[in-house]
Amino acid sequence: MKKKLVEKLLDDMIAYQLERRGIDKPDVLGAFHKVPRHFFVSKRLQDQAYEDYPLDIGYGQTISQPYIVALTVQNANIKNTDKVLEIGTGSGYQTAILAELAQEVYTVEIIPELYETAKNNLNQLGYENIRFLNGNGYFGWKEMAPFNKIVVSAAAKYLPSDLVDQLDQEGKLIIPLDTHGWQELLSLTKDPYGLRKEKLCDCRFVPLVEK
Ligand code: SAH
Repeated sequence: MKKKLVEKLLDDMIAYQLERRGIDKPDVLGAFHKVPRHFFVSKRLQDQAYEDYPLDIGYGQTISQPYIVALTVQNANIKNTDKVLEIGTGSGYQTAILAELAQEVYTVEIIPELYETAKNNLNQLGYENIRFLNGNGYFGWKEMAPFNKIVVSAAAKYLPSDLVDQLDQEGKLIIPLDTHGWQELLSLTKDPYGLRKEKLCDCRFVPLVEK
């Protein structure tokens, strides 16, 4: 794709899909500007990479809609000193956005082929602050804990207690939960009394593998 076209598609995606829906943090919008989304989908879907919907990435999985990534990242309130854990690397697109904002990103993907592709793509783009793990992120990444922020890209039936344990003091966990037969994207903040919960939106993520 030509650089000029990518610039135009990015500008439109940011203005119409993100800013118009309330994504307004300059650092978050700046991060979206830097990451070429078409790089994370197969050749046949590149024309649709900047559209307002999720896309197939194979193995029954999808790259999330840009707005959902933005809502997640904006609410995670990522600082450049943060250590972030991401569960469900998928295409690696959100990983790149997180890596633009955080100091270090630790990302876990359960499907070996997606793990390999995302790792190669992100290395090719030159990111040096991402560590990759092929495994079950339901249990987090214990050796690397605690994390300031944890973002989960697949919907769980129950809140995974390992993830809550691996959150630092005042840490934030953004996770889609499917507890009542529909999914809600939740922001959970740790404080001395427990977890403060805020609902961000109804949503539709692929299921989190829990065992
Ligand atoms: N943010 C990603 C979303 C990918 S879809 C993107 O925009 O591309 C969710 C991903 O979570 C899938 O790749 C799926 O394989 C992965 N996944 C599901 N359960 C998992 C688990 N228990 N541990 C790690 N990854 C998991």
